[in-house]
Amino acid sequence: MNIKCSICGKEDSLFRANHRDLGAIKLCAGCWSKEHSKEKLLPLEDKGSCCR
Ligand SMILES: [Zn+2]
Repeated sequence: MNIKCSICGKEDSLFRANHRDLGAIKLCAGCWSKEHSKEKLLPLEDKGSCCR
């Protein structure tokens, strides 16, 4: 299965991200830091979903 960066389409080692505009996506390292520096990435909430 080919997973590609949601922004540039590159197949690379991808990071899960919670993007302000795009939702839950995968990003390559380059796009991750680019989006992160634009403050487009929200913290991932990965640990269970107790009590919500
Ligand atoms: Zn990318």
